[in-house]
Amino acid sequence: MMWKTHLNFGILLGLIAIGFLHPAHPLKFMFIVVIAALFPDIDYKNSKTGKNFKLLSIVFNHRGWFHSSFALILFSLLAYYLKGEVLAWAVFTGYLSHLVLDSLTPQGIMPLAPLHIWKIKGRLKTNSPAEFLLNIVIILCIFIIVMKKINIYNIFTALKEVML
Ligand SMILES: [Zn+2]
Repeated sequence: MMWKTHLNFGILLGLIAIGFLHPAHPLKFMFIVVIAALFPDIDYKNSKTGKNFKLLSIVFNHRGWFHSSFALILFSLLAYYLKGEVLAWAVFTGYLSHLVLDSLTPQGIMPLAPLHIWKIKGRLKTNSPAEFLLNIVIILCIFIIVMKKINIYNIFTALKEVML
């Protein structure tokens, strides 16, 4: 998947998680979600994240351990010990969003890598019209959630008061 789709899907799941967890610092929460949503491609030297960490992509196979459930759990636990429960949920949400999207592609992911080569995969090709469409749907969902949160009626009343 393209990094933009990962970014948007991370934001979408982050917004949903914020609705459940009500973190004290929603922006900080979202920042961590986004970082975690882009992080797993650190194992791929041509990705936005991985091009800064070329050595890692030599040691680890792309969509190997970094795209496994073990990495998801390990990095979430790490965040838990370093920063507490709420930010651990932020890492979990972002990281999970990445794995879910990659599992829709033909290349798929191996949730048990490197212990087992069992794969979850789909038919959605990276950088295809289907991914583009998926990204549009994700953006629309983000838009709807944000609009609901802002409460558009209040904005119009406020604007009216300013103008009149
Ligand atoms: Zn990936």
